[in-house]
Amino acid sequence: MCGKPTGYGKDLIHKECREKLPYITGAKCLKCGKSVENAEVEFCYDCTKTEHIYDKGRCLYSHNGQMKKSLYDFKYKNKREYAKAYGEELVNNLKYEILAWNADVIMPVPLHKSKLRHRGYNQAELIARELSRRLEIPMDSKILKRTRKTRAQKELNDSDRKKNVKNAFIVDKSIVKYKKVILVDDIYTTGSTIDSCAKVLKEKGVEKVYYVSLSVGTGI
Ligand SMILES: [Zn+2]
Ligand SMILES: [Zn+2]
Repeated sequence: MCGKPTGYGKDLIHKECREKLPYITGAKCLKCGKSVENAEVEFCYDCTKTEHIYDKGRCLYSHNGQMKKSLYDFKYKNKREYAKAYGEELVNNLKYEILAWNADVIMPVPLHKSKLRHRGYNQAELIARELSRRLEIPMDSKILKRTRKTRAQKELNDSDRKKNVKNAFIVDKSIVKYKKVILVDDIYTTGSTIDSCAKVLKEKGVEKVYYVSLSVGTGI
């Protein structure tokens, strides 16, 4: 989180850094897992106006300044080792909710191959791999592919986000072996990327699509 060393064999996150982490607490949207202010409502504002294709999801942190910085370094500054701490955090906090989905497989939201070549790694895949290892759910990072280069979702408004990722993914026909899939991404905002993936998966017979993301943004 702060980028300073923790020391060999120590916790991956300093105690004082962990205390500042923006965990999503309190009442949560039954669909996307964002926090809702009023505990009486079932769904957040976004989920009442959008009918999602995915079934359910959970996210761990609010995408505030501290998380933005950490995820930015993870994604663009080659801080691949952060995946270990992120994976540990997800499992420590969301393990039972994720296991209750009883999924067959974990899949990272894929990058387009040109972006993968440029960056050298898919940050979502690094997180997915950690989750897979710790929860003993297999990971498949080959079956779902991004076929179109898309713009970064953060640059776009809500309706442009949907257009941007529409038909951006394809899935191999060997998908028939999976019935329940967990998609993993680093940031969830409006859910259009997850929905776009869920659409192709469900068209090929996947029955349930869940998502796990580290951080959740508030949209525009
Ligand atoms: Zn620290
Ligand atoms: Zn929601």
